[in-house]
Amino acid sequence: MNDTATLERPAEKAHARSEHFDVLIVGAGISGVGSAYHLTHQCPGASFVVLETQETFGGTWITHKYPGIRSDSDLHTFGYRFKPWVGKPIATADEILKYMGEVIEENGLGPHIRYRHKIHHANWSSKDNRWTLDVENLATGERMAFTCNFLWMCQGYYRHSEGYTPHWKDMDKYEGRVVHPQTWPEDLDYKGKQVLVIGSGATAATVIPAMAPDAAHVTMLQRSPTYFIPGRNAIDIAEQLRKLQIDEAWIHEIVRKQILYTQAEFTRRCFEEPEAVKKELLGAVRAYLGPDYDIDRHFTPSYRPWRQRIAFVPDGDLFKGIASGKASVVTDEIDRFTKKGVLLKSGKELEADIIVTATGFNLCMMGDIQFAIDDKPLDWADTVTYRGLMFTGVPNLAWVFGYFRASWTLRTDMVADFVCALLNHMKAKGAHRVEVALRPQDKDAPVLPWLDAENFNPGYMLRGMDLLPKRLDKPEWQHSQDYWVEKDEIPKTNFDDAAFVYGK
Ligand SMILES: Cc1cc2nc3c(=O)[nH]c(=O)nc-3n(C[C@H](O)[C@H](O)[C@H](O)COP(=O)(O)OP(=O)(O)OC[C@H]3O[C@@H](n4cnc5c(N)ncnc54)[C@H](O)[C@@H]3O)c2cc1C
Repeated sequence: MNDTATLERPAEKAHARSEHFDVLIVGAGISGVGSAYHLTHQCPGASFVVLETQETFGGTWITHKYPGIRSDSDLHTFGYRFKPWVGKPIATADEILKYMGEVIEENGLGPHIRYRHKIHHANWSSKDNRWTLDVENLATGERMAFTCNFLWMCQGYYRHSEGYTPHWKDMDKYEGRVVHPQTWPEDLDYKGKQVLVIGSGATAATVIPAMAPDAAHVTMLQRSPTYFIPGRNAIDIAEQLRKLQIDEAWIHEIVRKQILYTQAEFTRRCFEEPEAVKKELLGAVRAYLGPDYDIDRHFTPSYRPWRQRIAFVPDGDLFKGIASGKASVVTDEIDRFTKKGVLLKSGKELEADIIVTATGFNLCMMGDIQFAIDDKPLDWADTVTYRGLMFTGVPNLAWVFGYFRASWTLRTDMVADFVCALLNHMKAKGAHRVEVALRPQDKDAPVLPWLDAENFNPGYMLRGMDLLPKRLDKPEWQHSQDYWVEKDEIPKTNFDDAAFVYGK
């Protein structure tokens, strides 16, 4: 790779300033910070910068500020493999931010991160074998160019500026306040108020028990039920090993192995004996809500377990809230909004002072950056993905898209190993360009949507599927969402396979 240099190039004439780096990482969320760590350790000497729109690091964990905001998977596996997690498995956003801050501090990553830098455009030049990014410094309003040899996309999968709120009839007639969890107002006072939360995913399961003690009452309104796993917010083996004063690095490794083994078993059982798993999940909910509660109506989904992400409910707090009478569930559909709340299709009206729309995200392709290849606009839907991390026709670029059925960060670490090995391979070959391309044996394979909706079908993915790259029905040409297969396959990637095309 080239050394750091500042070059004035024709494409950058409009910019007063330009800087060049070997690698440019987009986003300082858990993926961007982890990728920066791995780059410094596995490609020492590579110059790099991390560009981040927000004022600080954290991504998801800084964007979301709703009451109770916490992880829904354990931090032993949501944490990086290289830094032990020493707290409770389900962590608050503040705890995750503290952990990420330590990673930045301990590894001297801070000076490499530029906050309040929003990337608008990215253009690949085949003549120069480099990307030119048009970047806005939000603090000064200045537009400048960053050029790089390799672009590492760690911008997540949803639009941070605004969540997804469906349009319901007569919403404008409602006289109370409508709030989306992604843009939680600092001044929202819900003490003694009637709150209606629309949705039943992980966000609803978090916000409801957090608001219930102060609100007059919180109602969860769902169209259809979701699976939850209630359990103790602790890991037995971690507690035992700590009692024995075992080194935290060992505990981290052992607990990760144990969690991943248990999750693999759980996933296998979801496919092989879904009815038995379903019975266990519903039994765990019944243990909190008692024999008379209508579990069939409110907590029994029509789909088989694992078709959508299953949220862990630490210490069963959602169900304790319902059992205490401070929270309740209504399973029905909204017909329209009214002055005082919502009118349901059943004819019942639910009145509320505040309506929280826990209705999900807007999928956003590559951070809403306008991409071009040699000045020709790039439509990602025209590309085919190599393992969900590279794309046909798009040179020198990798995307970190994590797991939904396992912790996202497992893939951040794995993709980082892949990218660093690829960069080192290019250096050894003297190559300045790499692109994935379908091989003769791939050319007749049917081109399919990014996800198999039969296998996994969250709403934001289905809504945005036409924006996403395509896959083939072959392991190397799709993001399988199967950590347990990928953990063995991705590290064995042969970078001299015909799927990788290099240029000098
Ligand atoms: C509330 C919530 C809870 C979750 N809990 C879990 C969990 O427990 N376990 C799990 O595995 N997953 C969870 N997820 C999924 C979660 O999004 C990921 O696990 C992870 O945090 C994503 O990290 P990331 O760094 O890839 O992306 P993000 O956290 O989305 O960060 C991307 C960053 O890139 C920046 N960026 C984007 N576009 C640009 C641009 N054009 N220019 C400059 N910067 C840009 C953004 O500002 C942002 O800071 C959760 C998601 C949400 C919303």
